[in-house]
Amino acid sequence: MNHKSGAILVLSGPSGAGKSSLLNKIIGDIGECYFSISTTTRSIREGEINGVHYHFVSEEEFKKDIEDEFFLEYAFVHGNYYGTSIKPVKEALKTGKLVIFDIDVQGNATIINRLGDITTSVFISPPTLSELKKRLEFRSTDTQDVIDRRINMAKREMQRISEYDFLVVNDNIEVAADILKVIANAARVKIPANEINDFVRKWEDI
Ligand code: 5GP
Repeated sequence: MNHKSGAILVLSGPSGAGKSSLLNKIIGDIGECYFSISTTTRSIREGEINGVHYHFVSEEEFKKDIEDEFFLEYAFVHGNYYGTSIKPVKEALKTGKLVIFDIDVQGNATIINRLGDITTSVFISPPTLSELKKRLEFRSTDTQDVIDRRINMAKREMQRISEYDFLVVNDNIEVAADILKVIANAARVKIPANEINDFVRKWEDI
């Protein structure tokens, strides 16, 4: 008799840490999930699809969405706005799904504040700063200026690892994926404080 309410898994970490590759590796082994598609004002990268990787909008549209309280959280990251829409998240939680967010450290702080008791947060780190530089340069979808900004941002984000439940170092992708799979499956059985009494009452009745 496992409890069935939805749960949240936050993944943060510098761009280049390998969050998307790790997620792609484990997605078939962690049960029913909803991956939250964020809205952003940053320009679309080669290979990205509007509505799949992000909802790409203008700054004007984004600000209108803030006014309309459309976001569960939003933040200004690397000179652009990024935000998580409330509505699909609520729907997914209602149907017992594991909702996965790829958001930055500011977003994680907001989610912990608002929905901390159903949230498990994971910081994914590249093994070293020099490896991160190598990965960002190899990816080469960004200009040197943007890469430098991401590296400085990464250094700042690494200072906030203690705000997370788990740290996964993505050195060997197979090993990191195995660890993340265990965490994602455990996130589903985290018990929200308001359900404990209910669960014990039902358990005693059976
Ligand atoms: P990128 O531009 O590389 O796709 O993402 C840049 C950063 O923005 C990453 O650290 C990513 O986790 C973060 N990010 C993406 N979507 C959201 C969001 O909806 N909210 C917040 N707070 N951060 C986000």
